[in-house]
Amino acid sequence: MEQHRRYWEDTYLFEVETEVIEVCEEPAPGIAVRDGIVHPKGGGQPDDVATVDSRPVSVSKDPGAVWLHPEGTLPAVGDPVHVAIDPEVRRRHAALHSAGHLLDACVLPLGFVNVGLSHTPGQAFLLYDVDGGTLPDGEEAKASLIAAVLDRALELVAADLPYAAEVDADGVRRVTIEGLQTDPCGGTHVRTTGDLTDIEITRVRTKKGQLKLSYTAEHA
Ligand SMILES: [Zn+2]
Repeated sequence: MEQHRRYWEDTYLFEVETEVIEVCEEPAPGIAVRDGIVHPKGGGQPDDVATVDSRPVSVSKDPGAVWLHPEGTLPAVGDPVHVAIDPEVRRRHAALHSAGHLLDACVLPLGFVNVGLSHTPGQAFLLYDVDGGTLPDGEEAKASLIAAVLDRALELVAADLPYAAEVDADGVRRVTIEGLQTDPCGGTHVRTTGDLTDIEITRVRTKKGQLKLSYTAEHA
C-alpha cells in the first residue's frame, strides 16, 4: 500500500477520483485512498473538512497514511471513490499557515527564536523566546513592535515571493519562502506571498520571558 501525498504537491487540488488501497477497523473504521488530498492535523494546521462520495469524514493519520472515517458502510479495497475537501477551509488554512511562516521571518531578525505556534483559525499565534532581542515593555512598545513586523510583512507581500517545497533524502520536507527562510514543514502553502491579504497582528503578550503574537490572515 502506498498513498501519494498529493496535498504536498498542490494546495489547490480540492477533489479527486481515486481508489481505496486499505481498510482499517481500529482506532475507528476507515479507509486509505491512493491519492491523499486531505491534510491531517499537524504542525499547527488543522484537519481539512473532507467528504468521501459526498459523505462527511473525520480524519486521522499514522506514519503510513492519512485515514478517512465515514459513517456507515465502508467501501472495499479497490473500490473507486470521490474524495473532496472544502476549498474555502483549505484556502483559509493555507493562508494562515503561510502567513505564520512570513511573520516568523519578520520576527526572527528582531532577536527572537520561535518555540511554538498554531495556525488554527481564530486562535493562530507565534510564540518566541528572546534571543538577543528585547521584550516590548508597555503598550507603546508593543504597538511599535506590531508596526515594525507588519511593515516588513507587507513589503514581503508586495515582493510576491514564491513558496517552494522539497523533500530531502531523509524524507523531511523543507519549505522555503524564496530568498527569505527555510523550515521543515508538512503543511499546505499559498503560491506566493502575494496570495496573502488582511494580515493583522491582533494581540501581543509578554509572559514568563516569552513573546506571543496572535495573528490573522486571509487568502487573497
Ligand atoms: Zn508550512
